[in-house]
Amino acid sequence: MTRRRWIADTFTDSTASLLGAQAEHLARVLRAQPGMNADVVAGARVYHATIASVASEEVVFALLEEIPAESALPITLLLSIFKFDRMEWAIEKATELGVGSIVPVIARRTEKHLAQAADKRVERWRRLAQEAAKQSRRADIPAIAEPIALAARLAQTSSAQQILLAEDEQNNTLRRRIETALASAESELPDFELAIGPEGGWTPEELTLFAKHNWQSASLGPRILRAETAAITALAITSALL
Ligand code: SAM
Repeated sequence: MTRRRWIADTFTDSTASLLGAQAEHLARVLRAQPGMNADVVAGARVYHATIASVASEEVVFALLEEIPAESALPITLLLSIFKFDRMEWAIEKATELGVGSIVPVIARRTEKHLAQAADKRVERWRRLAQEAAKQSRRADIPAIAEPIALAARLAQTSSAQQILLAEDEQNNTLRRRIETALASAESELPDFELAIGPEGGWTPEELTLFAKHNWQSASLGPRILRAETAAITALAITSALL
């Protein structure tokens, strides 16, 4: 039977604690008792742990031995903000697929009311990522950045291989872009940044801006995918090749 997995709110070298709602849930709903076993994620590492003390405001675990855990993929997903219900689905699936971090991007065709509301949604997106990380037994939680305008994000320097998914790219598939990047990488696995446009797609000016910042465009095939489908497909292809 797989042990339940908890993501610690605070931790030391030998203990980890759940606070607030997590502690209350464990103490009151699950009636946890000292001595119960669990897996606890603390500082991107996973430990076999046992409950040392239970109170509704804090449950303390004694960390026993570290469990080998899959680390996140070296992929940052630049996700243009689109209809929140679909975007939240994409954040959850991207987390299950191992994405390293997600940057919500305000693109030209991001609907205005969504762009304005995004700042207030980030905490919810972070909670969704934490739940999805726990459910998929990840050793860590993908970082969800503050929403940022595309031009501002592109102006940031990055050493990653930067690939924008463009529905009208005719010559280069994502597979070819990744394989070329891996072939030219020396020893270690490069980081990747994958950019997904909004429901209305990228504007010609945005495509020019990507090119100016040396992003490479890649196709996911001849069909037009919804943004959330494109995000999941791009992650799945990239992680399979890594
Ligand atoms: N401009 C599209 C249209 O004509 O309906 C809408 C954009 S699509 C819904 C949203 C985003 O998903 C695109 O900007 C692109 O990043 C990605 N995408 C969708 N289909 C793709 C494909 N076949 N190849 C590469 N990217 C794709």
